[in-house]
Amino acid sequence: MGVPRYWREIPSRYNLIGKKCGVCGKIYFPPRSICPTCRRKSAGKMEDYKLDGKGTVESFTIIRVPPPEFEGKSPYAIALIKMDEGCYLTGQIVDCNLDDIHIGMRVEACFRRIQEDGKRGAIYYGYKFRSLKS
Ligand SMILES: [Zn+2]
Repeated sequence: MGVPRYWREIPSRYNLIGKKCGVCGKIYFPPRSICPTCRRKSAGKMEDYKLDGKGTVESFTIIRVPPPEFEGKSPYAIALIKMDEGCYLTGQIVDCNLDDIHIGMRVEACFRRIQEDGKRGAIYYGYKFRSLKS
């Protein structure tokens, strides 16, 4: 992911602001300007919608051989989360024993450091998920 795109997306990433289609009520994250179901009818009717941040693990995988920038961080879990609003997010599961992660586990979004760019000194933050104690 290029840096300019990353920075442009920061407000929505930090606040989990998606879009709600004013026609069918479906919620999208990342935000979209047009609802793929309603298409032209949704033009101008997509409203900002803040996700609650809570969801359920639909599927997950344990990364043991990470890409170079995440070297030394493995093993870690990446999960597909179905948010309570109905959209799907992918993110790392943190603060949790890898053996405890399971399909159907309730999680909530939290903001964490994702990556440090040594050359530029930039630190990237984004959402990850942690177990939601009920
Ligand atoms: Zn729609």
